[in-house]
Amino acid sequence: MTVRGAIPAPDLGMTLMHEHVMVDFIGAGQVSKDRYDPDEVFRVVLPHLARIRSLGCRTLVECTPAYLGRDPVLLTRLSGASGLRLITNSGYYGANDGKYLPREAHQESAEQLAQRWADEFEKGIEGTDIRPGIIKIGVNKGPLSAVDAKLARAAALAHKTTGLAIASHTGDGAAALEQLDILAAAGVAPSAFIWVHAQNARDTETHVKAARQGAWVEFEGSTESAVEARARQVKALVDRGFLNKTLISLDAGWYRVGEPDGGDFRSYDFFFTAFVPALSQAGITEAQLRQLTLDNPREALTISKRLL
Ligand SMILES: [Zn+2]
Repeated sequence: MTVRGAIPAPDLGMTLMHEHVMVDFIGAGQVSKDRYDPDEVFRVVLPHLARIRSLGCRTLVECTPAYLGRDPVLLTRLSGASGLRLITNSGYYGANDGKYLPREAHQESAEQLAQRWADEFEKGIEGTDIRPGIIKIGVNKGPLSAVDAKLARAAALAHKTTGLAIASHTGDGAAALEQLDILAAAGVAPSAFIWVHAQNARDTETHVKAARQGAWVEFEGSTESAVEARARQVKALVDRGFLNKTLISLDAGWYRVGEPDGGDFRSYDFFFTAFVPALSQAGITEAQLRQLTLDNPREALTISKRLL
């Protein structure tokens, strides 16, 4: 489900699973569409999207949740102008100790939150006909706080009605495994879950534990200093037999609301100029890279209810 409507999963093409167009770090209490000029963001970001389109990327999952700068109308304009498919999300971000959580995240039940997210999928986001293609949540390190555990349960319930995959920004390995338990208790299969920022767990054993259950394990290699270590983590999980459960992306972009010209935008083409060469250096083959960037995203993003 892209911001411009549903497409057959085989058409997704090469996909970056976890990127950002625009982020506003002001916090849920003050975040507002009045804080930025969408025309200016459009002007700054468009060349970056067009650039990776020209390098072969066809779909980019925009993982900025509501209350952190999600703007589906802006994404739709950018998608139309760049020719790159964009996917947006429903869900709340509980990491950073709840700075980006709206009041209802604390006040409402998991069922009520799940209903809000499912409504966005059924009816569109914020009065538009733009629908989410993924459920995105964020949680701190384990053991999960009560509100983080509620977000995971809400995501599981929303999956059961929408069939959207759940991508969770996750503080550490313990929090990843705890979320899989919460999904299981709600009857949702691990294959509906994408463990975002799996690099936060340094040991391959924890990655193997999640992948063996059937969860997607995602690594992002966004910076010059991190890219080689990230490539080695990917290779280690692939070598354990879990190529078919591994996802990769950059976690780049980040037009920052409130900074002049959006601050220091991190270009997505770093994926092609640095991460891909580092993966190949680490021993990932062309065929494996194709599975990581094309076949696995297609399977993870296909709308289907994955139940136990
Ligand atoms: Zn991110």
